Amino acid sequence: MGKENLNLNETVEMVKLVASSIIESEPLLTDADRNLGDGDHGLGMERGMNAVLDKISDSTFENISDVFKATGMAMMSSMGGASGALFGTLFRNGGKALEGKEVFDSEGIRLFLESANEGVKSRGGASVGDKTMIDALEPAAEEAMNHTSLPLYESIKLVAQAAEAGKEKSKDMIATMGRAKTLGERSLGHPDAGACSIAIIFESMSKFINK
Ligand code: ADP
Ligand code: MG
Repeated sequence: MGKENLNLNETVEMVKLVASSIIESEPLLTDADRNLGDGDHGLGMERGMNAVLDKISDSTFENISDVFKATGMAMMSSMGGASGALFGTLFRNGGKALEGKEVFDSEGIRLFLESANEGVKSRGGASVGDKTMIDALEPAAEEAMNHTSLPLYESIKLVAQAAEAGKEKSKDMIATMGRAKTLGERSLGHPDAGACSIAIIFESMSKFINK
């Protein structure tokens, strides 16, 4: 039976599953960035998520907001590069939007994603269609907005599906941001590496909430 919301402990456990899922996907993320960029995305995300696991096991948290903020901070300070700043911003801004909330629920995932998406867009300057992580993140944020009245285990499934569909759609886009933009039409046919990470993050959240 899926969960209607997550308490503090469950939120920590969910973030651990997100981290281990990204770490396991390092080869896939490396390949994706090799096709379109410089091939460092998988190792960067792996390093970031190992820092997240270290941080989480060394900390006691007061509330769910702090769990996500610490996640973002650990990524920012360990990864470097474009995606350290951008994925760090995603979790830190998402976490900020949850200040004052006791549980992670459908309203929480909406608040998290709205703020995460706005933060990454203003930091990186990309929009939907540029073939970046935004192509998975923004549809996920829009889906969350439409399903705040569903229980969390339903809304997160739809959010994960929207992120996955956005990542798939990025295959048909010509990159206009980041390293891949120099490839022009040769960027067609491959999904964006950062969008692959976004799809894995929300798929693993859905897996935890539905287990
Ligand atoms: P780098 O580009 O420094 O090698 P990574 O390989 O870790 O960093 O991450 C590349 C990913 O970062 C891309 O696949 C894309 O999703 C994302 N990205 C790069 N630049 C931007 C940007 N300006 N806005 C949003 N996402 C971006
Ligand atoms: Mg790269």
